[in-house]
Amino acid sequence: MTDYDYDLFVIGIGSGGTRAARVAAAHGARVAAAEEYRVGGTCVIRGCVPKKLLVYGAHFAEDLMDARRFGWDVPADCKFDWKTLTGNVFEEVDRISKAYNTTLDSHKVEVINERAELTGPNSIRLASGREVTSKYILIATGARPHIPTCPGHEFGITSNEAFHLESVPKRILIAGAGYIANEFAGIFHEFGAKVTLINRSDQILRGYDEQIRDRLLQISMMKGIDFRFNAKFEGIEKQADGSLKVSMSNHAPIEVDCVMFATGRVPNTENLGLDAAGVELTEKGAIRVDEDNRSSVPSIFAVGDVTDRIQLTPVAIREGQAFADTIFGNKPTRVDYHCVPAAVFSHPQMAGVGLTESQAKQKYGSVKVYVSDFRPMKNVLAGRNERALYKMICDGETNKILGIHMIGPEAAEILQAAAVAVKAGLTKDAFDQTVALHPTMAEELVLMK
Ligand code: FAD
Repeated sequence: MTDYDYDLFVIGIGSGGTRAARVAAAHGARVAAAEEYRVGGTCVIRGCVPKKLLVYGAHFAEDLMDARRFGWDVPADCKFDWKTLTGNVFEEVDRISKAYNTTLDSHKVEVINERAELTGPNSIRLASGREVTSKYILIATGARPHIPTCPGHEFGITSNEAFHLESVPKRILIAGAGYIANEFAGIFHEFGAKVTLINRSDQILRGYDEQIRDRLLQISMMKGIDFRFNAKFEGIEKQADGSLKVSMSNHAPIEVDCVMFATGRVPNTENLGLDAAGVELTEKGAIRVDEDNRSSVPSIFAVGDVTDRIQLTPVAIREGQAFADTIFGNKPTRVDYHCVPAAVFSHPQMAGVGLTESQAKQKYGSVKVYVSDFRPMKNVLAGRNERALYKMICDGETNKILGIHMIGPEAAEILQAAAVAVKAGLTKDAFDQTVALHPTMAEELVLMK
């Protein structure tokens, strides 16, 4: 026993905080966790989960169209109801959030539904005014959407509000070019909105393999999504009829019904009492941590998006687990950030792991690139002119696989399995020796020449 109220106090019950709290408690720690909004955090409440469910819902637009070629009589007046979908999605979100609460309860984690901030290296003040002390504090407060400071920005929404729109906007402008911008562009387009995506630079999805993202751009344009590049936001004006007039550099203004900012995410470090505790931040305002997730203050740790390393749920979860195992489980563990797979749930999906072709060329000089550019069987029968593209990047000397990148139906599902091979350091020969599973799209991975 210590003189502190708790062994661990977690601020933020999202992906990282939940895992850390549960595992620390399982290791025998006395744990409390505070949440200012809803248990589950971004992923469950307004990120991965509801987003993926909207993506599924959206993709029926194409499936229903294709179904006719497979003999189904789909009526021409087949309708989509946004409220039915979002209502069901919210029910599912509630179910998962409750399941998180149940898990924390069963591990005897005290859940406090209040905002918390630090008052010192071992002390926390809750919104109710209650003060508590803890031997260790874990900051897992996540990140929030960045909103540009242009005139009229208050008329725009972010991904947080997108789930709660009353209806699908007829015309939507999405600012940004990252995965959230492209995913929502796909979602709203499939639901019938006229989508314009604007971006400051001249490319989408920076950091992803060039050829793969070019293929997505080409397919998205073919489907009817409008892209405006080198377009810097200048302002939003609300017009008498309620529509929004958006001005931008290098392009004519555009009139839309909704503007969504998907221009990056900012770590939640404001008004957290970090100064009082002496916690250092990075230039980007994230909590600076070492390989053990420890901040500049020895008793304070941080995991997940608030540290701005790789802002993905499975990474936050691993960091939470590593922290709890190291500090409370007598099992020092560090997260390995090498070969973290990532996906874009666009239509079709994109996914990748390891180095892109240009990264590999820069690092290794000599690389071999194997490509399969094909039209999936289902698309052929459906008359859908959409080609999939798989790339395997190998070390030119050893044939070790450095990266796999793909775009096509179910790319994320296929890539997850392939990521094991890349992480394990396999060579192309291991794929060549594996007999194809026919007929699948994934078999292209073992047939690349
Ligand atoms: P969070 O899950 O954000 O949890 C932080 C919690 O802290 C929140 O609940 C917040 O309310 C709470 N909090 C903040 N400040 C305080 C305070 N002072 N006191 C008390 N509580 C506080 N990742 C993927 O891997 N795959 C995806 O497909 C994917 N899709 C996404 C789609 C969208 C639209 C968005 C926005 C994100 C998506 N992400 C995805 C990213 C993923 O959601 C995050 O990386 C992940 O949730 C980070 O977990 P975390 O624990 O760091 O923070």
